[in-house]
Amino acid sequence: MTEQHYDRPPVLKVRGLRVYYETPKGDVLAVDDVNFDLYEGETLGLVGESGCGKSTAAMGILQLVVPPGRIVDGEVWLGDKNLLALSEEELRQQRWTKLALIPQGAMNSLNPTMKVSEQIKDTFDAHESKLRSKASAKDRVLQLLSMVGLPARVYDMYPHELSGGMKQRVCIAMAIALNPSVIIADESTSALDVVVQRIVAQTLLKVKQALGVSMIMIGHDMGLMAQMVDRIAVMYAGKIVEIAPVKSFFTAPKHPYSQLLIESVPSLRERKPLKITEGITHDPRNPPPGCIFQLRCPHVMEICRVQTPPMREVALNQLAACHLYDPDVEGKPTNVRDVVGNP
Ligand code: SF4
Repeated sequence: MTEQHYDRPPVLKVRGLRVYYETPKGDVLAVDDVNFDLYEGETLGLVGESGCGKSTAAMGILQLVVPPGRIVDGEVWLGDKNLLALSEEELRQQRWTKLALIPQGAMNSLNPTMKVSEQIKDTFDAHESKLRSKASAKDRVLQLLSMVGLPARVYDMYPHELSGGMKQRVCIAMAIALNPSVIIADESTSALDVVVQRIVAQTLLKVKQALGVSMIMIGHDMGLMAQMVDRIAVMYAGKIVEIAPVKSFFTAPKHPYSQLLIESVPSLRERKPLKITEGITHDPRNPPPGCIFQLRCPHVMEICRVQTPPMREVALNQLAACHLYDPDVEGKPTNVRDVVGNP
């Protein structure tokens, strides 16, 4: 993990990102006012239950949202460029060279009729065709294969000749081919068995450290997140509800949803009944006023039903959107752990 300096300018800034999906019954607010920073060399884990908007947020950052989805609002600053204000051609120049994606189910995205080497070279051709001779392109592909722990013979192989883990590592090689400064890995280990998952995760970590690249890692395997990331951002129903350094998150999660997420992770050391997050979720087309988690929160208060809690720093570098941490709110429940002013 990387030692972070949060006072330095971030490499990626996401502000007010909103992505909605059009349905006959109204817009689904899949990503609703998402804000976060990603720092140089940092790995930020984006976690939350299925359908919470993690992958849609990634598509929004990359401007890869397709109908019926649409980006409604927001800014995505990569260095001094707001990606959401660029033309398609300007964006094309940023993708792969500055910002690369390892998509969900990436291994199934390989073309079965093309050799691995041709597919990786395609990435060069799209961006630097005039710069690379045939020989240097081959050397670079072999170097990339070696970086992701694949033998040189993979160069001439077709995807169907590779295992799932090998295909996934080919996708990592493609993502780093043009030395991007930011990589988004969307559930890149979730379709693999547990041993292969670890190998792919280690590969990601290795290339990240070798290249000093910043990474957003999307997933829901909390064990993997604990080992891989520097900070965690928790999404619930399209919103980020907590962002925390990984150690603080696992030892002292602040948002009630984060606390329930951690409590739902099985432990061999302390066998206890699995915690179930009770309550119903709201209609994503028509969220209630106030806090997005109010229908499932064990600590809901009157104010939660009328006022949206702002993100505030509740511990060092730890932000949470919850009225429990507002010193001006009175009548907080007493059964809450670790709440500022209400221990
Ligand atoms: Fe629960 Fe209220 Fe905090 Fe929302 S703001 S998480 S409802 S206590």
